[in-house]
Order: sequence, then C-alpha cells, then structure tokens
Amino acid sequence: MSFTTLGLSEPILRAVAETGYTTPTPIQKAAIPVVLTGKDILAGAQTGTGKTAGFTLPLLQRLSLHAPSGGRRPVRALVLTPTRELAAQVGESVATYGKYLPLRSTVIFGGVGMNPQINALRKGVDIVVATPGRLLDHANQKNIDLSRVECLILDEADRMLDMGFIHDIRKILALLPKRRQSLLFSATFSPEIKKLADSLLDAPELIEVARRNTASERVAQVVHPVERERKRELLSHLIGSQQWKQVLVFTRTKHGADRLCKQLVADGITAAAIHGNKSQNARTRALAQFKENRTRVLVATDIAARGIDIDQLPHVVNFELPNVPEDYVHRIGRTGRAGNEGEAVSLVCADEVELLQNIEKLIKREIAKTAINGFECTLPSSVAKPAAKKSRGRSGGRAQNGDDRSASGRSRDNERDGRNRRDGRDGRNGRDGRNGRDNRRARSEGTQDLSHYAAQMQAGLR
Ligand code: AMP
Repeated sequence: MSFTTLGLSEPILRAVAETGYTTPTPIQKAAIPVVLTGKDILAGAQTGTGKTAGFTLPLLQRLSLHAPSGGRRPVRALVLTPTRELAAQVGESVATYGKYLPLRSTVIFGGVGMNPQINALRKGVDIVVATPGRLLDHANQKNIDLSRVECLILDEADRMLDMGFIHDIRKILALLPKRRQSLLFSATFSPEIKKLADSLLDAPELIEVARRNTASERVAQVVHPVERERKRELLSHLIGSQQWKQVLVFTRTKHGADRLCKQLVADGITAAAIHGNKSQNARTRALAQFKENRTRVLVATDIAARGIDIDQLPHVVNFELPNVPEDYVHRIGRTGRAGNEGEAVSLVCADEVELLQNIEKLIKREIAKTAINGFECTLPSSVAKPAAKKSRGRSGGRAQNGDDRSASGRSRDNERDGRNRRDGRDGRNGRDGRNGRDNRRARSEGTQDLSHYAAQMQAGLR
C-alpha cells in the first residue's frame, strides 16, 4: 500500500515523497482516512509508530480544503504535546508535510522568550503546536484566540496527564468551540485517560495498532563491566575503536553531563551536553548539531532527552545506570526507532549492580555482560537487597541524584515541560502514588487496553 491510496492531495503527497517515506505505517493507514472524514478518534499508538504523520497529514489536508474566508487568520488547529522537544518535532513535521500548502504554523513552549511567539501569533497562524503551560500564558494575556479551532489534537495524552497537565488541559478545552474535531493519541489507557476521552471526544473511532516490540525487545543491549574511574576512558575507547559517528550518552546528573562532555572534548571527540540547566536555545542548538552529525556525542540527562527523535540513531550509552529502572527503557528507546537497528551499551561498575538487577527484573531478561580488553572488571554476581524500593519512586531517585526535576529553581516553565514534577501536582490531580506507578509500569511495558475499552463502549458500560 502506498500513500497515494489514502485520499491525500498532491501537495501533501509530494512533501511526503520528499521525506523518502513510501509506505504508510499501520497507524497512518488506519488514522488518515478516518481523520479525513472529520470524525473524532481515540488512538492507541506509541511513539515511534509514525503517529505524528498519522494526524498531521489529514489535518493539513482538511485545513487546506476549507480555507478560511477573508480577514485575519484564526487559529484553526491546535496540537498539544507534553514536552518542548515533542512540540518542536511535531512543529517540524507540520512544516515539512505542509511545505507546499498555503498554511502557516507556529510552535509555542516555555523556556524561551514570549515576544517572538506573540509576533508569530499576531501575524496569524492556522496551526499552533504547543505545550499546555505556555499556551495558557498566551491565552491569559489575550495573545491567542482559540475560539475558532476546528481540530484539537492531544498527542501523548497519557504523558500529559502523568506530568500533571490535566488542569491546564481542562482550562484550554474551555477556550475551544464545542463543535470541533478532536483526536486523542495515547500509548496507554489509564482510567484518567478514559475519563478525559469521554469528556472531549464525540463518538470516536477507536484505532489501535498492534503493539510494537518494546524497546527492550528491539534494541541490542550489552553491559560492559568497568571500574567507575575508567568509564570515561572506556567510552572514548569505544567511540574511537568502533568508529561510532553518532552516540547519545546518558548521565545521571547535569553536573556529570557537563564534566563528561568536557573530558570527551579534551579527548578530541566533538560533544555537547543537553540538560535542564541549559537554556532552551542551547538545547535546541545542541540537538540540531547532533542531528546534522556536526557533533559526534550528545550527553544528556533523562528528562532533557525525553521526546528526542533522531532518525536512525545507532548508539545509546548509559554512562551511568538510571536510579529508576523505567528510565532505562526510555533511554534505550531513543535508538531502534521506526524499524531501525539500534544498540544500547551500559557501562556498569560494581556499585551499580543493584540498579542493573532492578532493570533486568523490569525488562524480564538478563542483559549480556561483555568485558572489553584492557578494561576488565569483575562485578559482584548479586547484592544483598535486589529490589530497591527507594529507587522505584521517581521523587526518591531524583532527590538523591539532583537531576533536572529536583534542581529547578523557576517553577512555571520548567514544571510545564515536566522538569519539575515533584511539586504536588500529582496530589492536586487526585492521583495517588499507586496510580502513578501503574501508569509508568504500563507505559514501559507498552500495555494497551484500548480494545477492552472499546468493548465497554460498545456495551454501553461507560
Ligand atoms: P512518530 O511516531 O511520529 O514519532 O515517528 C517515528 C519515526 O518514524 C519518525 O522518525 C518519523 O520520521 C518516521 N516515520 C514516520 N512515518 C514513516 C513512514 N511512513 N515510513 C518510514 N518512517 C516513517
């Protein structure tokens, strides 16, 4: 099946052809024709499935078919995303696929100046891609009028709820016209997502694509045992000897990311760091240079790397294992995307064995351990306390390691993109710790119960 059979117009097909995509992914095949009819959808789709094009292509087509009549352009489509990085990526997709259409779009998120965004909004845009917090700031200041939105898209809705955005979403919904098309994408379906779907979707078509293999099944994983003090040396050795051209390296702390970056540069390897203490512009620049292969190594903390989508990223390195085992799954999921091969390498020293065991328990498999010549080191085979309760909770782990969310001084922008989640928002949302944990577990295992939900809907049980 090719894109031409999906009912898309020539300018859109031309733009898609230029990206090199020839075959629609399952979510694209399922969603595009339905969105084109104007129906609401509730879609179960994980990141990496091609869902962005799944909603962007038909959205562009619908907007271009019914051009607004005269006057200043109203905002006609709103895409909400949980993170700045995802907003930027969706914005790029909108611009790429819409390049031959007379539509204008802009991206709005925190951490950067308001004025360029105000200017873009004043000129008039058809499509706004935004994170909820900054969008509300603009709405409160009357910089944006959402009363003529024809289509609302909630992307990664489960993550938005996980990050405490439900109140902001509800406030935004109140600013939209009642009659509109709404599309909700979520990887998992917790009771909160179902509640949200019920309140905002009208007779939605339920679309669920087969669960992809989880990252832990898709990505080749290996552990190299090494002494803590020799990790940097081993990393430089691996990059050089295996001629890695593009590698994303994770550290636990912002300080650690900066230090490693400096050391790699001293070793003659081009590297940049990306974390919550960097300005949004510095983050964007570092990411762009890495994507363009101008920087060989990008050193990142967990939250800064969320949502990073780099086509064919071949290598992910865990310079240090994360305290929270689920973060390991998120990290390695940065590689092996869209059907590509990927490799995740973890440099593990003796005092990380417990963390490793917790990860292996979560992914339900043992990771191969291979010593590198000249760097051999024996890891203890087990530790006294295999299940580290403390490290499973996000807040405990973050507080200890000083990662982005705990160290942020300014609350608004940071919390809006999820870097400061420990501010009691969970409590305000009425979500208890158990639910939060369930969500996380469901996400990391890729669980979806949309079909169960669909059956309930059909039986009129909700
Ligand atoms: P998404 O799930 O939207 O984040 O997309 C995941 C990745 O798949 C992105 O890198 C897209 O560029 C890529 N992609 C989207 N649609 C296709 C397609 N039809 N064929 C190949 N790659 C695609």
